[in-house]
Amino acid sequence: MATQEETFKKLVSHCKEYGFVFPSSEIYDGLGAVYDYGQNGSELKNNIKKYWWDAMTRLHENIVGIDAAIFMHPTVWKASGHVDAFNDPLIDNKDSKKRYRADVLIEDEIAKLDDKIQKEIDKARKRFGDKFDEAQFRATSQHVIEHQTKRDQLHDRYKKAMNDVDLAELKQIILDYEIVDPISGTRNWTDVRQFNLMFSTEMGSASDSASKIYLRPETAQGIFVNYLNVQKSGRMKLPFGIAQIGKAFRNEIVARQFVFRMREFEQMEMQFFIKPGTELDWFAKWKQIRLRWHKALGLGDNKYRFHDHDKLAHYANAATDIEFEMPFGFKEVEGIHSRTNFDLGQHAKFSGKKIEYFDPETKESYTPYVIETSIGVDRMFLSVMCAAYKEETLEGGDSRVVLSLPAALAPVKACIMPLVKKDGLPDKAREIENLLKFDYNIQYDEKDSIGKRYRRQDAIGTPICITVDHDTLNDNTVTIRDRDTMLQQRVNISDLPRIVEEKVSFKALLQKVAQD
Ligand code: ATP
Repeated sequence: MATQEETFKKLVSHCKEYGFVFPSSEIYDGLGAVYDYGQNGSELKNNIKKYWWDAMTRLHENIVGIDAAIFMHPTVWKASGHVDAFNDPLIDNKDSKKRYRADVLIEDEIAKLDDKIQKEIDKARKRFGDKFDEAQFRATSQHVIEHQTKRDQLHDRYKKAMNDVDLAELKQIILDYEIVDPISGTRNWTDVRQFNLMFSTEMGSASDSASKIYLRPETAQGIFVNYLNVQKSGRMKLPFGIAQIGKAFRNEIVARQFVFRMREFEQMEMQFFIKPGTELDWFAKWKQIRLRWHKALGLGDNKYRFHDHDKLAHYANAATDIEFEMPFGFKEVEGIHSRTNFDLGQHAKFSGKKIEYFDPETKESYTPYVIETSIGVDRMFLSVMCAAYKEETLEGGDSRVVLSLPAALAPVKACIMPLVKKDGLPDKAREIENLLKFDYNIQYDEKDSIGKRYRRQDAIGTPICITVDHDTLNDNTVTIRDRDTMLQQRVNISDLPRIVEEKVSFKALLQKVAQD
């Protein structure tokens, strides 16, 4: 059995080999933590975006979408706090010369202790079988108590240091817990420093008149500064939401794990404006709505969990992450935050404009509160790929790599294959292509054996293959082959649009999300 790490490596090379993801500027040896999406990757990514966009804007009559510019007035980032506080605490190892995020090093240490506790529990569960009582074991096992105490103490110190932005204490924690550099294995650390993650550039031609502007590190601010425009032009009543999909840029220090942490990435964010005092109810509701959106894809309900934040930003009064089980552990894919009236309040202060809502029922004006849902397209892409990638051994010793993608997200919905390149079969196959291509992304393939053609489509996750043979010319039937079961079935050509629609449509997916 391949380890998770090996499988992940294989997935990364599969992504390149089959046109999903390429390193950026690869002929120049690439650019750190920047990636390009290829012919199949961009289709899959577009489908993810469509799924999100439609779920937000079509399933909620009070949510509308916008598309704000990447460049924004520099004061936006002063007001939002990003100029002063969008920092990561960095630490260098003097032996390996590698740079790390101090918070990540400590969080990894906490995760290690959690793992140790879990291992003890798993071992005991095996030993005691049905009689096993986890709560009792946790309360009495000497090993578990020791690990738990160490973990809780570490966690409390870490939480306090982060909340106080106490860089010296972060370093002290790393020293006290004897955290070593994974590469050099040493504890020869520098001090912890702050590093701002925003990229900046200059706008205007003459250097003296040019002003420093930033590449947005999140899309959310484009929504906040348009709150009044959308509210007024759309005559929106609270509660209402504004959704947006777009690029964001962060000068990440520790860029790793493929498209999980990139310097240029894409976000899908929605800010939901509400009456102050209702935020915790809405926060709970949005947690459920968003989890339902994820689970409707059928990647496995046990692969998700919420991770509530210990360290709340000073303006937030609740925050959670939706984590997905990647081959390298449970990782954040989406954040849901209750941001109070912080952002609108800050923009009102810095712009000198009144940014409020007049409540026609209570006849009062106030600054709305906000619940934000923020998901990375690329991390979503990665979770879908990780869950879908499978290596299967088939009967007869043959093997295949198959991407069991949710059919609605698959880059290619169906591939049409004439059995041979003659006898009029290609013409018939082209007719079928014309029947389907205006609704779906369809491929036509006449090269190599049918077996090889199936494997090619399996590798990019095409849900249906349609084979045209000599009988087709007489009876207008074709063989359709299912990607996952590999079962074949004879069907009428006239039934194909319905069959394909039932398999790949977004409708069924959206209906699942809409269920209450
Ligand atoms: P992390 O703690 O992993 O750095 P974050 O908490 O800073 O993430 P947010 O600011 O909440 O992330 O951004 C919302 C979402 O944007 C994240 O849940 C993630 O899916 C995505 N995202 C953030 N940074 C990156 C990145 N560097 N590369 C890819 N996606 C990202």
